[in-house]
Amino acid sequence: MGQTVGPMTDAATAALVRDLGEALEPSRVRADPIELGLYARDASLITGQASVVCFPTSTEEVAAAVRVCRRHRRPFVPRGSGTGLAGGATPAGPLPPVVIVTTKMNRILDVDADQRVAWVQPGVLNLDLSRAVAPFGLHFAPDPSSQQSCSVGGNVANNSGGPHCLLYGVTTAHVLALEVVLPDGSVTLLGGVDPEPDGLDLRGAFVGGEGTMGVATRIAVRLTPLPPQVATLLADFPTMGEAAAAVTGVIAAGVIPAALEMMDATMVEVVEAYVHAGLPTDAAAVLLVEVDGLAGGVAAQTARVEAVLRGHGARTVRVAADPEERALWWKGRKSAFGAIARIAPNYYLHDCVVPRTRLVEVLAAVGRIAADHDLVLGNVFHAGDGNLHPLIVFDRRVPGTLERVHKAGRAILETCVAAGGCLSGEHGIGLEKRDAMDLVFAGADLEAQRWLREAFDPDGCCNPEKVLPRGGSRCGDLEELPAGAWV
Ligand SMILES: Cc1cc2nc3c(=O)[nH]c(=O)nc-3n(C[C@H](O)[C@H](O)[C@H](O)COP(=O)(O)OP(=O)(O)OC[C@H]3O[C@@H](n4cnc5c(N)ncnc54)[C@H](O)[C@@H]3O)c2cc1C
Repeated sequence: MGQTVGPMTDAATAALVRDLGEALEPSRVRADPIELGLYARDASLITGQASVVCFPTSTEEVAAAVRVCRRHRRPFVPRGSGTGLAGGATPAGPLPPVVIVTTKMNRILDVDADQRVAWVQPGVLNLDLSRAVAPFGLHFAPDPSSQQSCSVGGNVANNSGGPHCLLYGVTTAHVLALEVVLPDGSVTLLGGVDPEPDGLDLRGAFVGGEGTMGVATRIAVRLTPLPPQVATLLADFPTMGEAAAAVTGVIAAGVIPAALEMMDATMVEVVEAYVHAGLPTDAAAVLLVEVDGLAGGVAAQTARVEAVLRGHGARTVRVAADPEERALWWKGRKSAFGAIARIAPNYYLHDCVVPRTRLVEVLAAVGRIAADHDLVLGNVFHAGDGNLHPLIVFDRRVPGTLERVHKAGRAILETCVAAGGCLSGEHGIGLEKRDAMDLVFAGADLEAQRWLREAFDPDGCCNPEKVLPRGGSRCGDLEELPAGAWV
């Protein structure tokens, strides 16, 4: 067994920086304290520590960077735009990892409009991809609210969702093939663009792997036709309970809308002050429902949804008059997390899923948890698939507040699981929920997940400490290998 590597010495860092600089180019390898600080966290509340940050531009450079990390016995963390909310891209562990950032790998490599397939580099931003293929009448269907800034590589790693994933499915339904730099520095292709690729679905295993199985360097995505007709409805309710019951009612009526989102009174107030979209600020809850498809079908579905909403107590139901009004409503929904800064400087955005039929009671329990912990909480979420996003708003400078936020977060999680739900709908487990995995998985389940992960990364060098409760790295204990040993 080789010598265990401790915290980095200046000389060790300098050697790592030098070798990474030779593998990429020196200007794309950074180790100054300010940049290390920037890349020490994602959009969650969790901060870690990076040893070096590097910015490759190609598959070859990613592979070369990984091989340098292995030679120096350093773990590494793949990172896209850093908008993750579970600490997935936060460098963690006793050996500060190298952060491999894909933001300079932002080219759309090929669009085959006939086959409805695009090959992209992982750093392409979600919305940029949809904008680029719009002239072909196509789009990339997963639409996280962060789509202006999150990367397709991050979407793949977190199997991200978004408002329109209710109808179109989350990211895994839109990824055909992945070129991956494996944790040993070799390059492989998972999946394929043929309708039925041979062999095990390792593509499916990698999607949602939260960057623990390698770095995706090229991604073949499925493109979806833009719907010919869209109708967006805005309904306001006097109680949260009636709005939640209406969500169940719409699906029970046999309509699967493209999107079915809910905002409570706290969120409506801050969003309206931000976008001035005419949202009803005296409502206890608002539903945003979108149906799409062929014109005749959309008209019939709109009428059906409106009847169900009114039947469940909606005071008013409006249909967006034109694309501008529709865009304004969606701007409000998608900028809700930013708008919350009007209340307090920090927020903790929770993410868990409950069966739709339990929405009413779970929302009431979440409200009680916030009150018990003396916290302000808003709800804005993908109601159609039961994906709750309780949003706790606070000022972390007030002593004791962060502790209360964490306690409330844990209580919300336990409530959702007790209602038959699961830990995450879309943000992933990362560091945030790693130690809650045993709420839903037995030891044998966790062991099976570990085996799969170790099949990709036997030494735990790729994004260590994440997802699994005992996700520690043996990277620093490896035998010291000569340069090029992994080539
Ligand atoms: C305001 C706001 C709204 C959001 N709304 C949504 C939403 O509606 N739906 C949703 O699902 N999420 C949402 N998110 C969370 C986040 O935007 C998504 O998880 C997104 O997919 C992360 O992409 P990223 O490029 O920022 O990834 P990062 O945060 O950089 O990384 C996320 C994970 O992916 C891994 N990773 C990144 N790139 C690669 C790669 N090339 N290969 C392998 N692993 C990689 C990282 O190691 C990490 O584990 C929201 C976040 C914010 C801040």
